[in-house]
Parts: sequence; structure tokens; C-alpha cells
Amino acid sequence: MPGIVRKIIHLDMDAFYASVEQRDRPELKGKPVIVGGSRERGVVCACSYETRAFGVRSAMAVARALRLCPQALVLPVRMARYQQVSAEIFEIFGRYTDCIEKLSIDEGFLDVTGSERLFGPARQIAERLRAEVRAETGLAVSAGVASNKFLAKVASELAKPDGLLEVPADQVDQFLLPLPVSRIWGVGRVTAERLERRGWRTIRELRAVPLEQLQRLLGAAGEQVYRLARGLDERPVVADEPIKSIGAEETFERDLRVPEALARELLALCERVAARLRRRGLVGRCVTLKVKYADFSAVSRSLTLERGLDSALAIQAEALRLLGRTEAGSRPVRLLGVSLAQLEAGQAAQPELFGEEQRRRQSALDQAVDRLRERFGESGIRRATLLEGSPRPSVKKGGDPGE
Ligand SMILES: [Mg+2]
Repeated sequence: MPGIVRKIIHLDMDAFYASVEQRDRPELKGKPVIVGGSRERGVVCACSYETRAFGVRSAMAVARALRLCPQALVLPVRMARYQQVSAEIFEIFGRYTDCIEKLSIDEGFLDVTGSERLFGPARQIAERLRAEVRAETGLAVSAGVASNKFLAKVASELAKPDGLLEVPADQVDQFLLPLPVSRIWGVGRVTAERLERRGWRTIRELRAVPLEQLQRLLGAAGEQVYRLARGLDERPVVADEPIKSIGAEETFERDLRVPEALARELLALCERVAARLRRRGLVGRCVTLKVKYADFSAVSRSLTLERGLDSALAIQAEALRLLGRTEAGSRPVRLLGVSLAQLEAGQAAQPELFGEEQRRRQSALDQAVDRLRERFGESGIRRATLLEGSPRPSVKKGGDPGE
């Protein structure tokens, strides 16, 4: 009996680790990049599209990859970094549905059946997600849209790189039949060879095989192969735990030394974080600042507040206080990151810079700026640069900010 027609999106980042490296280090853009550690004993964890033309693939020994593409740059695996970017990406995915199943660090299923009423058709949601990931992280994500997980995943594989493919319910056969049997889940290289030896190379050819024959050949897997070959897949998207933190970070093209520049970049990060919080109706009580210095050593500083924040200025004020507890400025800074944890449902978004609340936040900001100015001297922060171009009311200094 046919149940409700589901709308599933499978999202998969393109060459994820390698793309993050190319984004963090613009000089690597357009260059063949392999992420995989040691040149002698490493295994390719990810490779940029520039290396794929040479036959380089994931899981290949780095040594072999370098024989195929000797000019490739081999980079170490920076898992913590990829996890941070992954958290940003999954937070974006979460804007359109709570029903998200993470398959890996850079890949997941979204059930958007219940989201279409709010956000439009699944295809449109997928397009928006791709655009938002691109705009906010600079990275490409490919998307497959279909009525079940299997079809959505195959669609996103075929959409790569940087593409979107929808399989409408009435075009499943058209999509599926010409594909090689190896596209079916559970059909690895060995199974594919067994099927091909019998002359079943495409899913069209496999369709003609009776269930019993497949079961005799493949055992328990036979029935799944039989069903998937018909585009049937009832497995639901099993939602993961809700997100625990929302953050943003930025590696700078040039190391930052000037306090004004640090404060400005911090505000930009806080605006990104605040926008995400508000979009999800959340506030965060624990603010964490991460600073990576030019020599790649990194520190993080956290503080927990009684009340949750969702405004860029308020978060920036806390982040500036935390910045004052680092050596930023006296040492050049390569990366800044801001994240909020201890998330809870917040009030409806309030316009910033408004009334009492504004004055309270402004006062906290002023104090933090003052502290930085003390640290860095008169050449330090000028408030006008913190809010590029926006008119600033004059606010009396002093008074406890209330935290
Ligand atoms: Mg991927």
C-alpha cells in the first residue's frame, strides 16, 4: 500500500577536505591537491577535481597518486578543521528541516516532506541550500532530490561536481534503467562482477532477473538488490541529535595585527553566527572564541552567561572580552572563530540597536573596546570602525553592563 510520498534530499560536499584546504589557502585554488598526509605511506583521503583528471581517487595510496599526478600537493589531514566546517554546513542544512541524518562528515539525508508547505518544493529547497552553503562557506555541495534515500543518493552522485539532480516520481525508470548495476547500494566490486558475468550490466538487465534467482546468487542481499533495482526503498531518514553549537571562523589571507582589523573581523563573524541563531530561533549562553596565531598555535577562550544571546553586537562584546584574554594583536593572528553553545529556544528576533537593550549592549561593547584600547594603546580600536557606516548614538561610558 503506497504511503505518503516522501521528499528526500541527499547533500554531499564536493571533494570536501580538499575544497576546504583550497578555500582556506587561496593560493591552492585551481591546483591539484591531495589531502592524505605522508607522501610515502599516506592514503588519499580527498583529492581536488584537478587531480581526478589524472586518475587519482580517494583511498588510493598517496605514493601511487603521485605517480599519476606528480605535480599534486600533498597536505596533512586537518580533521578538527573539517569538523568545524562540517558543523557549519549541517547547521545550514538544519534551516529547512529537523529531520537530518548525517551519513558522514560531509554528507547527509534531509527529509523535507513536511517542509515544502513552508519553503516550497523540495527542488527549490535544495537549490537554496546549495546557494547558502556556497555563500556562507565558499564550498560546493551537490544535491539529489527524490522520493527515497537510494534515488536521492544516486542522483547527487550523478550531479557532481557542483550540481543538482532531481528524480521526479514519474521518471524513476528513465533515470535508473540505464545505470550500471554497481550504482545499487550493496553492490560492490565483487558482486558487480558476479552480476556482470551473467550478462547483467545495467539495472535494466537486472530487472529481468526473478527475485528467487537473485536470492540464490546473493543470499540475503538478493531481495534488497531486487527492490533497489526497481527504485523501491522504504528506509526512513533517521534524525540525529539536535545541533549543539553554532559557529563561524575565518582564516585570513594576511595575518592580522591591528586591533581595529581584529575587531572588525570579529564583528563579521558574530554577524554570521547571530544571523544563524536567529534564523533557528535560538540563543546561546556559552561564547567561545578561537584564535590561531601566525605560527599555527591556537587557543580558545570561553565564557558562559546567564542569558542567551542572539545579537551580533552582544556576541561581539563578549568575544572582544575573550580576545582581551589572548595575545591577539601582540602576536599576528591567522584565524578567528566564534561559536555559541548551550543553545536554547530564544525569543522572537528583536531588531538590534533598540532602546534599553541597545544601551545595555552598547555599554558592554564600550567597556570591552576600552579594555582593548588599554592593551593596545591609542592606535587601537576606534568604535566607528566597528559598525562600518552605521550611525552611532553617543552613549555615556561607565555602568556595569549587567553580566
Ligand atoms: Mg563528499
